[in-house]
Amino acid sequence: RAGVVVVGGGQAGHSVVSALRGAGHDGPVTVLADERHLPYQRPPLSKKAHTDPDGIQVALVPESFYRERDIELRLGDRVAALDTAAQAVVTESGTRVPYDHLVLATGARNRALPVPGADVPGVHALRSLDDAVAIGKALGTAGNVVVVGGGFIGLELAQVAAAVGAQVTVVELAGRLLSRAVSPQLQEHLRQRHERGGVRILTGTAVRAIEGTGRVERVVTDREVLTADLVVYGIGAAPRDELAREAGLAVDDGVIVDEQLCSITDARISAVGDCARHPHPHAAGLVRLESVQNATDQGTLVGRRIAGSPAPYRSLPWFWSDQGAVKLQIAGLRTDTDEVLVVPGDSPERLAAYSFRAGRLVAVETLNWPAEHLAARRLLERTAPVFRSDLTGSTLGALARAR
Ligand code: FAD
Repeated sequence: RAGVVVVGGGQAGHSVVSALRGAGHDGPVTVLADERHLPYQRPPLSKKAHTDPDGIQVALVPESFYRERDIELRLGDRVAALDTAAQAVVTESGTRVPYDHLVLATGARNRALPVPGADVPGVHALRSLDDAVAIGKALGTAGNVVVVGGGFIGLELAQVAAAVGAQVTVVELAGRLLSRAVSPQLQEHLRQRHERGGVRILTGTAVRAIEGTGRVERVVTDREVLTADLVVYGIGAAPRDELAREAGLAVDDGVIVDEQLCSITDARISAVGDCARHPHPHAAGLVRLESVQNATDQGTLVGRRIAGSPAPYRSLPWFWSDQGAVKLQIAGLRTDTDEVLVVPGDSPERLAAYSFRAGRLVAVETLNWPAEHLAARRLLERTAPVFRSDLTGSTLGALARAR
């Protein structure tokens, strides 16, 4: 019996197999994972200095979880190709693994930094546990840290480096931090918080080269030369969709799937998590999301579908980022919004920004205000819309209690 084969042992792959067994599916289940670690969560990697490699606890579940559920977890086994005609995957070691249903959960890879010197020792990107260990080791001795990219991972790492006493400069090409993901109003607020915490921020600044003899010493930008003994860059990620593309499946910055998360080319293949591009009721076109919520909920949906309970993917997107003392949370999708209302909380650290599309609330960002974030999720999950006019003088927390 061939059974279910999952490629990728990350957040989404783990969620597929735990939902499969949770829903009573008792056929063979195999996970092929190229990393050698048990499936783990990535968010803690950028939120703490991992200076003690033995102290990192990020595994999603202990190894016994898979053994007890008869899930074959093959670590360090990379899939090199798909043979969709024969319904099998081929691993790098040449083994063929047949499938009845295949789930692609291959995640994303960091975009490479396209400047000379990006390969000098002391220049790191962060995606894997091994990357976090290498950065943690370097942080132990780094005096000057340059973070290239003012996105979520870059800003989290900037705070981590500052907390261990380094002088930190963030270099961002765009005119603002987090320019794609966060409203301009909150971006400015976040920038001030980082600067008050001693992190130097250079926006509208391009990195031209990284220099050093044997080890990084300088980052050359179009404005100034920065001293650096550690450089960390986070300039976005690209989906690992090459297996699907080479097998002739529809791919466009992610494996294109339908609302059940099945490949639109081959119904015996699903894609979940960072590598999937999917329709969503909160978006005009197809979206690809990089978040724990998306990976977990999509994995669960596909596991349950294979076990016999299909449903369309409709989960409300939500996300968080911890940047030092600031907890940023986002509910909903901010694309195509045309109005932002900033609402102060009951203390100076708290702030919310409500984003509207044609007068209807579609996304809520909060700083250090978890109760308002949860109220936003409750309200946005419901089919009854919240309009701009519902929110005069009312927080979402008050509105959620009233409704
Ligand atoms: P992954 O968890 O990346 O797993 C994919 C796995 O597939 C990897 O182990 C990969 O090596 C493996 N793989 C790929 N190709 C093959 C192959 N051919 N054969 C075998 N295995 C293969 N999200 C949030 O919501 N909040 C946060 O605060 C947050 N912080 C983050 C911090 C960092 C540093 C990073 C990197 C990500 C963060 N994210 C956060 C994003 C979140 O972790 C991802 O969206 C999530 O892990 C996606 O799950 P996934 O299973 O799709 O991919």
